[in-house]
Amino acid sequence: MKWIKIGRDFIYPEYRPKWPRNPPYKLDRVSIDIDIDFENRSLKGRAVNCFTVLRETDMIELDAVDMSIENVLLNNSNVEYDYDGNILRIFLPKEVDRGEKLEISIEYYVEKPKMGLWFIPIDSDKPAIQVWTQGEPEENRYWIPTYDYPDSKASIEISIRCPSWAKVFSNGVLVEKNEVNGKTMWKYRLDNAIPTYLIAFAAGKFSVVEEKYGEILLQYIVPEGRERDIERSFSKTPQIMKFFEEFTGVKYPYPKYAQICLLEYGGGMENASITFLTDYTLHDEKAHIDFRSEPLVSHELSHQWFGDLVTCLDWSHLWLNESFATLMAALWRRYDLGEDEFIYNLLNMLDSYLSEYSSKYSRPIVMRIYGDPYEMFDAHSYPKGALVLWTLMSIIGEKCFRNAIKKYLIRFANKNADTEDLRKIFEEESKMELDWFFEQYVYNSGHPVLKVSYKWIYRDKMVEMKIEQTNGKDSLEIYTLPLEILVVGENYTMSKKYWIKDKSHIFYIPVPSKPKHVCIDPEFKVFKVLNLEVGVEELLKIVKESKYLYPRIMAIRKLGEKGNVKTIRELTPILLDEKEFWGLRSEIAKTLGKIGGNTARNSLLKALEKVKHPKVRKSIVSSLSNFKDEKVGEKLVSVLRNSDESYFVRATAAIGVAKTRYKNTVKILEEALKYPSHGNIITINALEGLGITETDEALNIILKYTEKDEPRIKAAAIKALGYFADRRKVIELLSDFSKSRNPGIRRAVVSAIKISMNPKLLPLLDTLSKDVVGFIRRYARDTARKIRKHSEKGEEYRKLREEIEKLRAEERRLMERIEVMEKKGV
Ligand SMILES: [Zn+2]
Repeated sequence: MKWIKIGRDFIYPEYRPKWPRNPPYKLDRVSIDIDIDFENRSLKGRAVNCFTVLRETDMIELDAVDMSIENVLLNNSNVEYDYDGNILRIFLPKEVDRGEKLEISIEYYVEKPKMGLWFIPIDSDKPAIQVWTQGEPEENRYWIPTYDYPDSKASIEISIRCPSWAKVFSNGVLVEKNEVNGKTMWKYRLDNAIPTYLIAFAAGKFSVVEEKYGEILLQYIVPEGRERDIERSFSKTPQIMKFFEEFTGVKYPYPKYAQICLLEYGGGMENASITFLTDYTLHDEKAHIDFRSEPLVSHELSHQWFGDLVTCLDWSHLWLNESFATLMAALWRRYDLGEDEFIYNLLNMLDSYLSEYSSKYSRPIVMRIYGDPYEMFDAHSYPKGALVLWTLMSIIGEKCFRNAIKKYLIRFANKNADTEDLRKIFEEESKMELDWFFEQYVYNSGHPVLKVSYKWIYRDKMVEMKIEQTNGKDSLEIYTLPLEILVVGENYTMSKKYWIKDKSHIFYIPVPSKPKHVCIDPEFKVFKVLNLEVGVEELLKIVKESKYLYPRIMAIRKLGEKGNVKTIRELTPILLDEKEFWGLRSEIAKTLGKIGGNTARNSLLKALEKVKHPKVRKSIVSSLSNFKDEKVGEKLVSVLRNSDESYFVRATAAIGVAKTRYKNTVKILEEALKYPSHGNIITINALEGLGITETDEALNIILKYTEKDEPRIKAAAIKALGYFADRRKVIELLSDFSKSRNPGIRRAVVSAIKISMNPKLLPLLDTLSKDVVGFIRRYARDTARKIRKHSEKGEEYRKLREEIEKLRAEERRLMERIEVMEKKGV
């Protein structure tokens, strides 16, 4: 019963299933020798690809985009080939048999590649100061002619010639470093087999700090001048590595682990033995109050096992890489920071998946039908997949789960795996048939939604509990899942485990006296959406009395829908209590914002005076932003101006000030643009705040910032133009920026259009829907669809109004006629 529900709004009409490529040969070894020209942003190279033939064949196809192919040799002899700008076809002189070894050597030249190899600054024609690669998913084919698909793995040798001022880093061990014709040649080698998308190198002015973890060389590499920030971001690397080794039972697989922070790089990439990271992860002492690198560091490090050592067979199984990395990072957090942090992390994962689910689309986690591999890198592959793995771990037990992943990592080490491989290993280890689990959660879209209500039956001393599955249309009608129910009374705590298998269940739980409260799945072991049909009093009891974070937060969120003044009074002391977990307090701040009204406003203002925890303060500031009044505005301005406050709290206040419509907002935000902050977050948010004011004065300031060199500030300014996108000048500017070489700028153009929802910008979106970068194509296309739907609705609404107007006019005429008739005394 696989793929009964394939989701909603994910598939565009021309999408077709994508199957693994199944080449008749296996890639064994890739040797690359390249010469980088920083001035002309080009490279000259020779790539040697070694294959073993698996099935009889007369042709080899290599991926090579936008290259000049200068020479091709097969086993050192000339050979016929054909190149169409995408695929290089090498015609073998005779049919070759299985087992035969082939060596194909290609000399080539690449100038200003559109993807894969990035010269920094990206949006410039000046000589580059840094260069780095980004292979995943299918971008290395823009600078290496090779077999560029995850299902074949090879050992790697890479020699890079660069000007001598640059340091060069790549996969594996540095085996040679020489001066050649005034340049320095760096030669790296990795003997483990890796998919070609994990081949990577970076060159530029860097500082390096090294240490050892057993035999493994650990390197922390940062742009020159950032040495002092290394400790703050990377000091936990050895501990994290040790934790992953112990949790998986499998040693770190490569001879070194380097982490390198790069300019204009977004997020992180787990290139085998050398992870690339955004330089934004480096941060000063001030940012360290409420910002950490460990979530990123641990996610990328765990990929060295999940993704690099064992690689998904194709992009439809991407979750095998990303869900594990997301879960492993969460497990590290549990180990490092405790249970509450872990559960709250899981809840944030659920929120992020549900936000994609409700605002964009749903799809099965394993999905064959997609347009571009980029589309698989979404909240279904990451957080949803991690929650599914966590649920599986809860069902089969942690020990069994760990044994299974150990087996998986050993059996498929340096190879590929698909979801069925994983399922079979879980079945072997758990001695359970697990089709039911994988089909529900992995091969079908959607999720279970449980509506829960209960009542106390005094006469029979029983709790009557009703659980209904109200799953969405794109979900299975009925899910099978275990559910723990905890009943807490005056002198007792009773825990019962049920298997939910029907559309609707009624359970009777005998208890000695009226329960104080009931918690569903107290430790959040099962991935589901919970709808509590419980009264305010009971919800408040859960918040005040339960030991468990998950039911407490669920109750707090529910109170946001039904809360009253009493709710606010009872939640406020918890919000103020510095001993309570920050995530819980943050949720209370959000709930007070949702309840609204004067009492909530006053509580939040009081909390702003007293609360110290920066993450709680951030939520308080964000909730206060919904109140459009002068006093709140004034307080937010003082937060924004206070240099003792966390960067992130101040940045949130920058948007808050604009939302409260405080007087002189434009002047205040203009000043805030200049406040120094981590990753310029205050400047970036102040630009958005200026956008929100929608004033001419603000537009003039924003326009100046669209000319800045720092790409992330420039992108924020372009995005803020979205608030003014009904003006011709702005429309023209957006069109100009859409031609930028920097994908970050092109994405900002789409974001601006999304803010504006202006149908006049649809042609520009249609152009961006053909962008070279996959995620921009999809983003532009989804935004265009949204605007079209919106304007269709607008059109329907307009027609409806016309109808009503007509009816009213008709009615008026009738009334007039009646009046006339009455006057006539008919
Ligand atoms: Zn990842």
